Order: sequence, then structure tokens, then C-alpha cells
Amino acid sequence: MFPGPTVKNHRRINSSGHSQGSSVPATGGVYLHIPFCGHKCFYCDYYTLAGREDIIDRFVECLEREVRQVDGDSISWSVDTVYMGGGTPSLLPPAGVERLLRALDDTLGLGSVTEITLEANPGEAPLERLRDYRRLGVNRLSLGIQSFDPAVLGFLERLHQPEDSQMTFAAARKAGFDNISVDLMFNVPGQSISQWQADLERVLELQPEHISAYSLTVEAGTGLAQAVDAGEIIMPAEETDYRMFTAVRERLAAGGYQAYEVTNFARDGRTCGHNLHYWRIEPYLGLGPAAHGFDGRRRYWNVRDLDQYLKRVAAGESPRSGSEQLTVAQLANERLAFGLRLAEGVSVTDGLGFGSTGEFRRQFADQLQHWSGKVELSGTHLRATPEGVLFLDSLTADFMLPAEIRTRNLTPDTSCRPSP
Ligand code: SF4
Repeated sequence: MFPGPTVKNHRRINSSGHSQGSSVPATGGVYLHIPFCGHKCFYCDYYTLAGREDIIDRFVECLEREVRQVDGDSISWSVDTVYMGGGTPSLLPPAGVERLLRALDDTLGLGSVTEITLEANPGEAPLERLRDYRRLGVNRLSLGIQSFDPAVLGFLERLHQPEDSQMTFAAARKAGFDNISVDLMFNVPGQSISQWQADLERVLELQPEHISAYSLTVEAGTGLAQAVDAGEIIMPAEETDYRMFTAVRERLAAGGYQAYEVTNFARDGRTCGHNLHYWRIEPYLGLGPAAHGFDGRRRYWNVRDLDQYLKRVAAGESPRSGSEQLTVAQLANERLAFGLRLAEGVSVTDGLGFGSTGEFRRQFADQLQHWSGKVELSGTHLRATPEGVLFLDSLTADFMLPAEIRTRNLTPDTSCRPSP
């Protein structure tokens, strides 16, 4: 079994907790993309494949090889979260997860890691396997429950039934997971407000530490998009989506969950550290087919084709297929857009690069007045109020920085290049 992380990368952090000589955050995450699924759901636009489970062992071998290609010494931040997403990572045998964690520890050092998440689907993660994951150091499970209503699950083409969710959740607790996140979905055609409310009551009975509640969106290129275009499926009215959104925020708040992000809720402070890296525009490594990564200034992505991925990695080549350098204004605007989704908001000094809160207040006086009551600027942070959250798109657009703006503090020198 995985012996536990070493402290290899502690040396990169000074006593103040920041990387030396850099204004970038001291910590970041690692994302591993596991593309296998028992079935390809027709609304899903993630890179996933059904019917390829026979090559899981070969895949693990290649992913391990990609992990070992990373030049750990070129990374100026410390890894504190690992996230195995997909796909359905709970299809991986524990021995595969062990190989990957061991390779990450050898390459990057997992001594500072506080959160290792693995996504699992109800009915596809038996107790023994969950016990093994837990023993290997996985300490957070993300369960794709989506709904407790058989008709909603049927529409979504999910393989599981409500009782599978109940069983897998209980098995996860028995296996020792004290940090479980549950995914729920609303705005599903045919789903009534009362069905959605019943889902919320069922999830509150389970008392997971974290809940993600997403509105079903029609993604281009999916079977759902084709059916909507052909008029075979009609999506719920905007009013229904809005009512379901307000219902989840109100009910979960009353149930003791904090909406620390617009559609993510945590009790007892059990937020998702890995997703916070994304939302705070902090660095992360992305490994596996179609995985995206970010080094503090540049986004990059791997080839979105499993066979190509395996071929390249097996030949010792990089699976990276593209990258994009963000301008200073793009970086600030991403921090703004994601930051306004967070309860903590975004720092207008460290995050957006203004010299002082007063400087930001002067430059955006008209917008602050226009959005009064929907946005607040207190201390150094700009936040959307609960009322403002309902207008996030237009509110964010009004605070975007023009492309030519030059701000301080936004030129991190971090990098996470795989070695050639
Ligand atoms: S199980 Fe999840 S990741 Fe897999 S196809 Fe369905 S929605 Fe996508």
C-alpha cells in the first residue's frame, strides 16, 4: 500500500508560506483525468468513453509515465490538493490509484497535500474498493448522485438507481470517508419543483460535508444539444431554472450549508480546496487525456483522444496539444469573473492589481453606484451580495477591465513544464 507522502517540496516554501521571489500563490493542485465510464450520458461534454475498460491497466501505466515526465524542480509552488476526476475514477483498481499516488509523491512530493479527492458513481464503488482507496490516502469522495428520482435519473441516462446512491454513500462512511461531496442536478426536463425539493430533503438526510448543485446546461456537440435543436426535447423555462436555483440556496442555507461558491455548498468549512484553486486562478497541473493545466500565466491542454494520448506517452513524447498565454488583463478578468462567484469575493489589490481599494473605487465609481446593493466593496474585497448573485453575468461584465490596462502584481514567474 502507498506508504504516505514525503516532504520533498517543503523546501520551496519560505516561512511566510509564500514562494520565494514570486507574487504567485504558494500552493496549487494536481488534476488527473480518468476518461472511462460505464455509459456515455447523452448530456455530458467531458472527454469520456464507454466500453474501453479493458485498457485501464495500460492507461494507468501511461498516466504514471506522464506523471514521471513532470519536472518537479521546475514547479515553484507546493502541491496541496490532488483530484482524480473524469469520467468515473472509481473504475480504477486500487493498485492503479496506488501507482499514480506513488508516482506523484516521487515526482512532486505529497508532503503538503491535505486533500486527495476521487470521483465515484453510485453503484460503481463497492465497499472493499472504497476501503482500499481510503487506506491509500484518498480522503475525499465526490459522489455523482445527481438525483434521487428514478425518472430524472432515467432522463439523464444514469446507470444507477436511488438505492445505489444510498448504499454507496453508506459504504463510503463505513470505509472511513468523513469528507464526502454529493453532486446534484436541477433544471432537468420533466423535473418539477417539488421533485427538486424532495431531492434536497433526501440529500440533507445524508448530511454530506459538501454539495455541488448544478443546473443542466445544453453543451454544444452533445446528444442533448442535438435533441434540443431538433425540437425533440424542450428545456425548462428560465423561470423554472431560477426558482430551482433560489430553492437550493435557501434550503441548504437553512440546513447549515454555506454557499461558498454560487453552486457549491459546504458545512463546517469543508470546502473543496482543489476547486478553490481553479476559482482563485491558482496554478494546477493537468495530466491525462484532455486534461487542462495552468501554470499561473499560461493555460495548456493535453490531446483529447485516448489512443493518441497512449501512443504519445508510450513513445516518450509529451501529450500536450496546445497552450495559451494569458495577458495581464485576461488574468485579472478571470480573477474577477470567478472571484465574484465566491462568497469571499476577489481582492481588488492582490487579485485585480489595483494600487489601493480607493483607486479601484475611483475607477469604478459609476458601476459601484449602478450595482449598489448587489455588489459590495469592503476592505480590499469586491463581492456579489446574495441579491447580486442572481445578476452575475451582467454584473461581472460591467466590472471587466479593458484589454489595455496594466496592473501591478500580476506577473507570476511560476512554471510547471514537463521535462522533454
Ligand atoms: S457518468 Fe458522468 S462523466 Fe461519465 S458520461 Fe455520465 S455524466 Fe459524463
